[in-house]
Amino acid sequence: MPASIVVIAETGFGELTPESLECVEEAREVADGIGADVHAILPGDEVEALADELAAHGADRVTVIEHQALAQFTADGWLAAVPPLLQEARPILTLAPDSGYTCAWLPRLSVRWRIPMATGCIRVKLTDEGYPEVFRVSHNGRLHERQIWARGTAVMVLLCPGVRGVGPGRADRKADVRVVRPALTPSSFRDRTLRTHPPDPQDVDLGDAERIVSGGLGVGGPEGMAELQQLADELKASLGGTRVVADRGWLAHDRYIGTTGKIVAPKLYLALGVSGAGQHVAGITGSETVIAINTDRTAPLLKMADLGVVGDLHQIVPILIRKLRSHADAELETSPGSTPAALTGEQIG
Ligand SMILES: Cc1cc2nc3c(=O)[nH]c(=O)nc-3n(C[C@H](O)[C@H](O)[C@H](O)COP(=O)(O)OP(=O)(O)OC[C@H]3O[C@@H](n4cnc5c(N)ncnc54)[C@H](O)[C@@H]3O)c2cc1C
Repeated sequence: MPASIVVIAETGFGELTPESLECVEEAREVADGIGADVHAILPGDEVEALADELAAHGADRVTVIEHQALAQFTADGWLAAVPPLLQEARPILTLAPDSGYTCAWLPRLSVRWRIPMATGCIRVKLTDEGYPEVFRVSHNGRLHERQIWARGTAVMVLLCPGVRGVGPGRADRKADVRVVRPALTPSSFRDRTLRTHPPDPQDVDLGDAERIVSGGLGVGGPEGMAELQQLADELKASLGGTRVVADRGWLAHDRYIGTTGKIVAPKLYLALGVSGAGQHVAGITGSETVIAINTDRTAPLLKMADLGVVGDLHQIVPILIRKLRSHADAELETSPGSTPAALTGEQIG
């Protein structure tokens, strides 16, 4: 039996998360280098049909853990259901997405089993001598670290979301699929997710957004981001930004763009006070039109933008908002059926 690299996959709204597929593809790459196989473990309820997708992205084996109590995430539930399979698989490495779910349960297992865990990983490999090695981001993105463990250490590796992207799956790839139905006692679980709400696409789903207004440190603070939100509202755009803006708490962390954040491909990417660091630009190359506003004419983003404006965003943004609002008002006045005159009591009532 070849050695195994295990991936612990997650689902969201009935689908595999892209982060899980990234882990499978990363595991495939490592496994190919050493003749190991990739074994995906997928906990959930009625998730067996997703096994083919794990296979298409590189899993040789898939173990699906089916239980009604796992329909929504529960750290205690996963701690009860997954470890027996890990013990059976005896992986040389375990990969999981660096997600809120993983962080809620895997560190507890790492401590219990005294197996090292590495968070924030951007790459993993086994050296020629067989030592597990990871490259990871630490200190809030300020440092890159390379960590190596003794040969045979079955490190648990948490891979940063978006770090490699998801490649095209190969439908002809098949896996051995096994379904296990463990006897769990949900009444003993101390945590339970009641329901999960999908994000508002206009606000959060940057990967699918058609228009993005993006703020960098040049916005100056949370008030600056609030002004950009108004601009985004007028443009019916989503609000995004750079990682440092998210690190300062001016923007939700799931809305920063770049290599370690969201990869976006909107029709319009409007960047305000964003310098254009490589890690940020790598996340926006799929944009159709890039407009950048920056006080510094040497800012890298101005060079790659389709339209670059050298100027102070604090002066330009209020003008843009005003113009867009007066344009919207003018449209309302001229469009038949929606003119203020047409809004008669008769029509409303
Ligand atoms: C491992 C690692 C991973 C990273 N991953 C990411 C990532 O995924 N995404 C990401 O974004 N960053 C990432 N970073 C950070 C990245 O290197 C940059 O530090 C960051 O993108 C810079 O953000 P910024 O453009 O907001 O800030 P700055 O680089 O400080 O730029 C601010 C810009 O605002 C302009 N400005 C100032 N005042 C005004 C004004 N009034 N009007 C108009 N313009 C003004 C300035 O001229 C400047 O160009 C990562 C860093 C590391 C180390």
